[in-house]
Amino acid sequence: MLNNLENEADKARSLVHGLEYQLQELGRQINNLSVQVESSSNPAQTSSGLEWSGDICCMICWDVPEGHVMQCTEGHLLCGECFSNPQIDTCPECRVPLDTQIRNRAVERIISQMKASAS
Ligand SMILES: [Zn+2]
Ligand SMILES: [Zn+2]
Repeated sequence: MLNNLENEADKARSLVHGLEYQLQELGRQINNLSVQVESSSNPAQTSSGLEWSGDICCMICWDVPEGHVMQCTEGHLLCGECFSNPQIDTCPECRVPLDTQIRNRAVERIISQMKASAS
């Protein structure tokens, strides 16, 4: 009877040992996985803010406007030069006529802040 119990206890102990080993093994695998996740979730550096300059380019010359930033009635941006170019009378993106002078001071400010932080 007592022997039986000790046998059972031994079995339980070895079971626990096996589980502990599996747990260690799993922990190692989790560590490996999180290292992989960390190294793969770090693609392009986005430090300067110049990366999003594509959104604030002139729709015609694809430059970041130097001076005034104009826009069509649909909000597409144009630099002052292209906007006042007599050969360009419609927005290249949405084809609305560029007969109303709409200036976008918010974008002008963003551009000047961007340039200040980039230099
Ligand atoms: Zn332009
Ligand atoms: Zn437009």
